[in-house]
Amino acid sequence: MNKLTIDSIELKGKRVLVRVDFNVPLDENQNINDDRRITSALPTIKKIISEGGKAILMSHLGRPKGKVISEFSLKPVAERLGELLDKEVLFANDCIGDEVAKMVNGLNDGDVLLLENLRFHNAETDNDETFAKELSSYGDVYVNDAFGTAHRAHASTEGVTKYIDTCVAGYLMQKELDYLHKAIAEPQRPFTAILGGAKISGKIDVIENLLEKVDTLIIGGGMAYTFYKAKGYEIGSSLLDVDKIDLAREMLAKFEASKVNVLLPVDVLVASEFNNDSPSSAVKVNEIPSDKMGLDIGPETIELFSNEIKKSKTVLWNGPMGVFEFPNFAGGTNAVAQALADATNDGAITIVGGGDSAAAIKNIGLDEKVSHVSTGGGASLEFLEGKLLPGVEALTDA
Ligand code: AMP
Repeated sequence: MNKLTIDSIELKGKRVLVRVDFNVPLDENQNINDDRRITSALPTIKKIISEGGKAILMSHLGRPKGKVISEFSLKPVAERLGELLDKEVLFANDCIGDEVAKMVNGLNDGDVLLLENLRFHNAETDNDETFAKELSSYGDVYVNDAFGTAHRAHASTEGVTKYIDTCVAGYLMQKELDYLHKAIAEPQRPFTAILGGAKISGKIDVIENLLEKVDTLIIGGGMAYTFYKAKGYEIGSSLLDVDKIDLAREMLAKFEASKVNVLLPVDVLVASEFNNDSPSSAVKVNEIPSDKMGLDIGPETIELFSNEIKKSKTVLWNGPMGVFEFPNFAGGTNAVAQALADATNDGAITIVGGGDSAAAIKNIGLDEKVSHVSTGGGASLEFLEGKLLPGVEALTDA
């Protein structure tokens, strides 16, 4: 990485302002359902406190849109973090203001303070200068460990870096970027990417960029049906990006012309209704009945995709193969997760690109069986599009 990292700076006695991504899922009783985002930030936090720095942590949680909404409070996160660190984590009831300044000034070396949700202020997402300046006043140095928001130029990810001289990447940020960069820039071949999910819209640039890099591109999930529509197939009431049919036709021509082995599903599971209990059957992709919808890939496709994945030495996966939230239509997504685990076991580097695929692989307990599960869905997609991430660009050059 061409940016300074936490290993290259002095932390002792310093006020270390850290952007973490503690945007964890909470249930209605404010219990944390999945603390992976907190545990992923522990190496950076432990490094700061063990070296005698003062850790001032800031994060967003959910989308409170500039309002103070108690269900989006980071207080439960402070408690969980305290348990994980086995030490007291101080909590500030806001992320700016005199109270926060006082708490920051009162910190001893090795203390940890978590500020309240940044997005209780619209100024965070607006990247407001005054707000960014105030946040920056809490730190002598700045660490960004929030890969999940690195694709956004917000006050806490980009604005603050204008007012602090030394801005570095934390360990999680470094790990995420290293995995993605290695996969894209120097992959062990064969290199296979699997894209799924609902819509083509958000993934066109990813497809274009990956076509230049991979040996095999697998496309599944709801987005496949727009390609079939473009081919002139009947797709019944399957998901369709109406505005993207022409684009899908152009993409199909590009697939033909490219050297990349592009695989689309050959069969799908269809049902009459969009629910888990709707009876399903497997049909060939050019035989979808007009009154049915495709909700998962079929058994032949599972075999085709799995074999290809298992032959690969680098695998990138982003997006489910079907409506994996319905157990009866999660088979394709689970099979892809299993194929990634098998490939990893055979020595491949396998990366799951956050969001739904990360949730899916965790659901079936295979998240430890792949090389890396990203904590950032949107950020990893933008990286795969070949875009620069503002939160990374803003860090100090090495
Ligand atoms: P995305 O946000 O574009 O990655 O899409 C993720 C969503 O795509 C998940 O909620 C899946 O349920 C949905 N999805 C995947 N395959 C299908 C399908 N065949 N029909 C409808 N939705 C799908």
